[in-house]
Amino acid sequence: MIDNNQEELNAIREGVRALCGDFPAEYWRKVDEEKGFPEAFVKAMTEAGWLSAMIPEEFGGSGLGLAEASVILEEVNACGGNSGTIHGQMYNMFTLLRNGSEEQKRYYLPKLASGELRLQSMGVTEPTTGTDTTKIKTTAVRKGDKYVVNGQKVWISRVQHSDLMILLARTTPLAEVTKKVDGMSIFLVDLREAIGNGLTVQPIANLVNHETNELFFDNLEIPASSLIGEEGKGFRYILDGLNAERTLIAAECIGDGRWFIEKSSQYARDRVVFGRPIGQNQGVQFPIAEAHIEIEAADLMRWRACAEYDSGRNAGAAANMAKYLAAKASWEAANACLQTHGGFGFANEYDVERKFRETRLYQVAPISTNLILSYVAEHLLELPRSF
Ligand SMILES: Cc1cc2nc3c(=O)[nH]c(=O)nc-3n(C[C@H](O)[C@H](O)[C@H](O)COP(=O)(O)OP(=O)(O)OC[C@H]3O[C@@H](n4cnc5c(N)ncnc54)[C@H](O)[C@@H]3O)c2cc1C
Repeated sequence: MIDNNQEELNAIREGVRALCGDFPAEYWRKVDEEKGFPEAFVKAMTEAGWLSAMIPEEFGGSGLGLAEASVILEEVNACGGNSGTIHGQMYNMFTLLRNGSEEQKRYYLPKLASGELRLQSMGVTEPTTGTDTTKIKTTAVRKGDKYVVNGQKVWISRVQHSDLMILLARTTPLAEVTKKVDGMSIFLVDLREAIGNGLTVQPIANLVNHETNELFFDNLEIPASSLIGEEGKGFRYILDGLNAERTLIAAECIGDGRWFIEKSSQYARDRVVFGRPIGQNQGVQFPIAEAHIEIEAADLMRWRACAEYDSGRNAGAAANMAKYLAAKASWEAANACLQTHGGFGFANEYDVERKFRETRLYQVAPISTNLILSYVAEHLLELPRSF
């Protein structure tokens, strides 16, 4: 199962770690405090070629697998950074790669690989339908050589730092399809043309320093050529890319977990109270040890998901379970780290509170924990569908 070339993976780890060395804790702290975007970091990762890891070589990328890509994001988080600022560029292109026309792929993928264009955004979630995606109300109606888009999206990330966005919209009303997953389509929207011409972007202030937005579509006209794949099959296309996304997020959580464990172990060794290191108390060391065990266990499932995905098998179960375990384990590690630091865990300069907020997101997005549990119950355990 774990037969990836360890030497290659180690070389990737070292390369990413070296780059992250130029973006130390002070950098991330400042970006967080200013509620800014780590532009210099994103640029450096792009120029080093890390974000085009999974784009095939014929389109200018490195043609690496999910295993290698997952190591890149894991290392960024293990070094104290936040992969949430770059992961979109790695996985949003899957939809295009797998379902786009030859012309679309030849035009866009080399530009994504070089970083000339950013495809950091994917617009699926809507305010009134939430997880019940097949009920989305955003519509795209074909008018000649254009589609006219109307509706609203919420929580759409990195729109202000992206050139392109994958958009899911209904092209056939729900009432007119036999299967509710049909009748939705995906489009590659050029944000540079759309914003201000039918698309309005409203940033959402939130717990994490995560650039995310509400989008309002008011008769936005997009060329018919921006449709990806066949009309009506968009939801299936999106689902297809989610297993890679979930596995990559699992790896990010594992990176976070490793950061929390290292940080708490160090502090527990150094901090002396009652005349001895706090880490000598089992009440302090056990939660850290427990977090370590859980992160290691989640990591095994992550490698299983990578192996299944990279060998072309259906990675649905493993990817969902990896994301579930890793998000839970990184949150437990975050809690243990904060508790170990006592009051200092709340001080910005220790970075614990920032990473604590950042890792919490992954139990909600891109899929909430409950929805993974219901997937496992229904698809693996053959229990009745609950919704
Ligand atoms: C910072 C951030 C960034 C995001 N970025 C993006 C993005 O770039 N693009 C995008 O499309 N979306 C994005 N999202 C949206 C994210 O994917 C959703 O928030 C998430 O899928 C949950 O959907 P919801 O918020 O509508 O919750 P809801 O669907 O309203 O659910 C609320 C709660 O109820 C639970 N629940 C709902 N139904 C059931 C059920 N049947 N059984 C059990 N529990 C249930 C859920 O698990 C959840 O805990 C982002 C969200 C955040 C917070």
